[in-house]
Amino acid sequence: MKTVLLPSGEQVPALGQGTWFMGEDASARAEEIATLREGVELGLSLIDTAEMYGEGSAEKLVGQAITGLRDKVFLVSKVYPHNATRKGTLAACERSLRRLGTDHLDLYLLHWRGRVAFEETLDALVELQTAGKIRYFGVSNLDLEDMQEFCATPHGNRVATNQLLYNLSRRGIEWDLLPWCRQQKIPVMAYSPIEQARLLHHPALITMGQRHGLTAAQLALGWLLAKDDIIAIPKSGKRSHVRENAAVLARPPSSELLAELDLVFPPPQRAYPLEML
Ligand code: NAP
Repeated sequence: MKTVLLPSGEQVPALGQGTWFMGEDASARAEEIATLREGVELGLSLIDTAEMYGEGSAEKLVGQAITGLRDKVFLVSKVYPHNATRKGTLAACERSLRRLGTDHLDLYLLHWRGRVAFEETLDALVELQTAGKIRYFGVSNLDLEDMQEFCATPHGNRVATNQLLYNLSRRGIEWDLLPWCRQQKIPVMAYSPIEQARLLHHPALITMGQRHGLTAAQLALGWLLAKDDIIAIPKSGKRSHVRENAAVLARPPSSELLAELDLVFPPPQRAYPLEML
């Protein structure tokens, strides 16, 4: 498995699994659980979830899926901004741990910036880390100025990642935020890496994939995985899809293919405000 280095020096899988909208449809549950488990066995052992997803139902599903596999999984969850006060973060983390059926998270993220001061959230994150309830903490959806402010707040320089919308059709972060994170050696976790399946219908991507014997999903993921410091977390609730996604690890795109992708999905030529889904 290709890995990405966290600032601590720990390696995590570069390809993980997202869980947004999982655990919400009873008829899909068994397949979703089987998919997450098979994904872990295939090496996609970083699982991303959040208290927001189905208001806890995704965390419950993940808890069930990782039964007996907890030691193999790098488990990520997120706190709602409106819960991110000192007391609120501690309580939200306990609720997430209970739903996930574990005594610790590997990584706990502030889901996006709300009204609570970073100082207060950071106090709680450090307390959780000291207590062994979370191993690392990070942020999500922070644009450059917010990220700089977070890192300049006491203990904020311990941030392990910024989880951001990043895929072939959303390259805005390449202008200034991604270079800054790189300079600080903070890896980026790319969410919605196949643009919530919209990239699968892109005609040029389909044609290019056919020429190279890859699916559109594999092209989108392969493009992200070609970078050293990007963790991609596609969501899939189907075993056939997780197998297809995992297979890209054995088929990294050539430099010619990457250049072709750059022509169809050009990098930004100016700064854009951070996009979010
Ligand atoms: P995504 O991973 O880009 O796309 C998910 C969609 O693609 C699902 O409909 C899935 O369908 C489909 N899919 C996956 N692999 C496929 C394949 N090989 N062939 C065909 N279809 C495939 O979108 P996302 O769920 O928004 O993003 C991924 C994860 O990032 C989320 O689940 C969540 O954990 C995280 N996220 C974080 C934030 C944030 O604010 N921090 C925001 C958005 C997402 P099937 O289930 O049918 O396979």
